[in-house]
Amino acid sequence: MKKALFIIATCIIFFGCKNSTEVTSKEKKDDLKVNDFAIIIHGGAGTILKKNMSDEKEAEYQQKLEEAIKVGHTILKNGGTSQKAVMKTIQVMEESPLFNAGKGAVFTHEETNELDASFMDGKTLNAGAVAGVKNVKSPIELAIKVMTDSDHVMLSGEGASIFAAEKGLEIVDPSYFYTENRFKSLQRIKDREKTELDHDDKKAAFYDADIKDSKFGTVGCVALDKNGNIAAGTSTGGMTNKRWGRIGDAPIIGSGTYANNKTCGVSSTGWGEYFIRNQVAYDISAQMEYKNVSLKQATQDVIQNKLTSLGGTGGVVALDKNGNMSFEFNTAGMYRASMDDKGKLIVKIYKE
Ligand code: ASP
Repeated sequence: MKKALFIIATCIIFFGCKNSTEVTSKEKKDDLKVNDFAIIIHGGAGTILKKNMSDEKEAEYQQKLEEAIKVGHTILKNGGTSQKAVMKTIQVMEESPLFNAGKGAVFTHEETNELDASFMDGKTLNAGAVAGVKNVKSPIELAIKVMTDSDHVMLSGEGASIFAAEKGLEIVDPSYFYTENRFKSLQRIKDREKTELDHDDKKAAFYDADIKDSKFGTVGCVALDKNGNIAAGTSTGGMTNKRWGRIGDAPIIGSGTYANNKTCGVSSTGWGEYFIRNQVAYDISAQMEYKNVSLKQATQDVIQNKLTSLGGTGGVVALDKNGNMSFEFNTAGMYRASMDDKGKLIVKIYKE
């Protein structure tokens, strides 16, 4: 009997040690600094299929992603802050009608554009966000101003615009955000809604594939600077046909954006309601902090298991304190790019 117990105890100690050795070597691997600085971006996730994309459009997206990421990369390379890199990179995409952020934002049911954005500083864990803004040219800049120049984390609507004007940010006529494509998308959805309102399963009809995809195109960026500071930001027009002041995940710290120098930075894109319910961005950081898993494991678990099991679609770009980077999404595609400290550039749209 004693002998049997001794054997069992020995086995437990042996396998227990083996397991912890494995964890230790994995931790060591992840603890290696792979990049002194790095930057990763997205321009939205969705049913982005090669068969639906012309060569010209594809090239336009690739060029804009490359242009945007190079702006941030140059800032980081020259010793600039991750905050500046994130803002300037996102601004390139906000100014492009290709993306659902700034100019090119989707339309609300009332045919207006209401913009959301957020930013987080991984060093101080300070953050700023804006929701439902209609006339501020750069929502990401405003989100950063909320962080640096107010006692608050989130401002919304008219109040946010008043704050922007007081701080000298560029105010534009709401027509600045108009693009024909986005307006047509809204009309298509409204037509569809009218014809399908009698459908038994109204919700399913409302969120059919077409409609789901017409909201994608949010932009986001995460950067690590030479001082080891991580910053993350996200900017969006939200969902086409949104109403009643709907606000998605993009301006919600912990859902659309999160950054912590101890773990990682994350920017999300996808069906916002699911990202809010899953606290996607914070969950990735929390898994790294509490479970000691790698960035890859955390992003995979949150997107492919937790988000997917609730029926949520979308993805994230994320970057950890050692400069490891991760694109993770459960949709057919995600506009995305990354650049490391050696200048290696990756620009991709589809799954592979
Ligand atoms: N997450 C955004 C929202 O729900 C949309 C998107 O990323 O495409 O407002």
